[in-house]
Amino acid sequence: MLKVLQNLLELQSVDVRLNDVRTRLAAFPKKIAELDARIAAAKAELEQSKAAQLATLKDRKKYELDVEQHKERVRKYRDQSAQVKTNEAYKALQHEVQMAEEEISKAEDRLLEQMVASEEYDRRIKAAEKRLKEMEESVRSQRAALATEKTAADKDLALVENDRKRVTAEVPEDLLDNYERIGKKHGGVALAEVEDEKCSLCGMHIRPHVFQRMRNANNEELFHCETCTRILYYIEPTEVPLNDHKPQASGVSASASSPASAPGEN
Ligand SMILES: [Zn+2]
Repeated sequence: MLKVLQNLLELQSVDVRLNDVRTRLAAFPKKIAELDARIAAAKAELEQSKAAQLATLKDRKKYELDVEQHKERVRKYRDQSAQVKTNEAYKALQHEVQMAEEEISKAEDRLLEQMVASEEYDRRIKAAEKRLKEMEESVRSQRAALATEKTAADKDLALVENDRKRVTAEVPEDLLDNYERIGKKHGGVALAEVEDEKCSLCGMHIRPHVFQRMRNANNEELFHCETCTRILYYIEPTEVPLNDHKPQASGVSASASSPASAPGEN
């Protein structure tokens, strides 16, 4: 097999690993953002209950003050009643007292409602605090697990990038360009094995005389798929010839001739 084709196959397998490790790394920010969002939601829930509780306390103070003011009015009218001379004036004051007592009653009802609400908000705050605490513990351990995963992925990336550097050093620049251009179009997979006389990745049938040339060339020449343009290689299913001699680096770019360049022949 052409040395350069072996290098490309190795490069392809390195790129598959590279793609895999990059996908793993790219997933981390989203996972971390999800954890942050869960904590933020638990905090928001707690803050909401605390704000409601605070509003309730303010209302309670207001109604307590209302009750005191109306009671003060009642005392004042009762004092005045003792001093009035006419029946009309007395009746008018009694009416005022009655009105003030009704106000007291209303304010006390509201006060009671607020006290009941306040107890409910206390329960909600305690529950929200408990949930937040549990969430923080769970998120802390999930973060630690993610950090471990990320360290491993960073290490893998460094290893794979190192492998890529080593392998690409063996591939002539123009062929590497060609490989990368094709890979970009096909999700990083620039090589395709020929199986059943077809490009195994796009399914295009290889024309018989091209296939014959491929078999004769025994991977000592580069062929491209006419449809997807991927670099083709063919491995005989029965025997595995080990004629791995003389790297043909000088003839590489010239031999990268595509069958697509001669579309007329059939
Ligand atoms: Zn193809």
